[in-house]
Amino acid sequence: MGTIYSEAELVWDGRMTLGEGPVWDARSGTLIFVDIAGKRVHFLEPSLQTHRFVQLEQMVGAAVPRQSGGLVLALEQGFYTLDPVTGTLEQLADPEPGRADIRFNDGKCDAAGRFFAGTMDREELSPKGVLYALEPDGTIRKALEGVTTSNGLDWSPDGRTMYYIDSPTRRVFAFDYDPASGELGNRRTIVIIPDGGGFPDGMTVDKEGMLWVAQWDGWQVSRWDPLTGEQIGSVPVPAARVTSVAFGGPELGELYITTARIGLTGEQLGKQPAAGGVFRCRPGVQGKPAFFYGG
Ligand code: ZN
Repeated sequence: MGTIYSEAELVWDGRMTLGEGPVWDARSGTLIFVDIAGKRVHFLEPSLQTHRFVQLEQMVGAAVPRQSGGLVLALEQGFYTLDPVTGTLEQLADPEPGRADIRFNDGKCDAAGRFFAGTMDREELSPKGVLYALEPDGTIRKALEGVTTSNGLDWSPDGRTMYYIDSPTRRVFAFDYDPASGELGNRRTIVIIPDGGGFPDGMTVDKEGMLWVAQWDGWQVSRWDPLTGEQIGSVPVPAARVTSVAFGGPELGELYITTARIGLTGEQLGKQPAAGGVFRCRPGVQGKPAFFYGG
């Protein structure tokens, strides 16, 4: 297990149904994250302890800042821009209109400003999900097919390897990545979550190139060396359904962790009352800055 870090502390007791997708917006010192099932985009300024949200009418899988201002969202009906002040949405594109059996899930931008977001089978049974890339020019491309529950993704510090999670496989995959074209190749398994550890969900890569993986039903975020496949650390979280992670705060030295309450019984929630909150730890490692959508 390597280093056991101190338990993550609750920073926002939001009791979200399915908190997900944290991303640090360094422009405003704001942590942006979503409640997929609650159909909300949340904005938390940890330094000021202020919080606000935008209520949507569709489930929101991922939200990323846009270089020209505002956000881009992956919603049930495709990609949209959001003005976080007025709440105005504008659809950019819908790659699979009319599909009620899938929805968008996790997403993230690469260094070139491409927004990668994947779809998932709502029943999480069949591999009918697709990882899409929304290019800065607004075109959409299929980056990967045959996915069941498209989830965490991030890149190595040099941008030449992409890490990716399809949760039911309990694996973290690596791909060779071409930063110029955004093409993936040479898929291989680098991590398998051990029995009893639940399922890998969201993920971030730190400045040293190590992976931090949120473990759904695993009560932790784990740190892995992608070259050896070894677990090198663990952050205990006082909630079972740990969904995603992102570095933020001063010098990107704080690890923010989202969690969920969905599917837990009253008895289970009694033992994890802060489930659905946002947690934080300071592991002594820095993150990489988040990239924003370039279109
Ligand atoms: Zn997820």
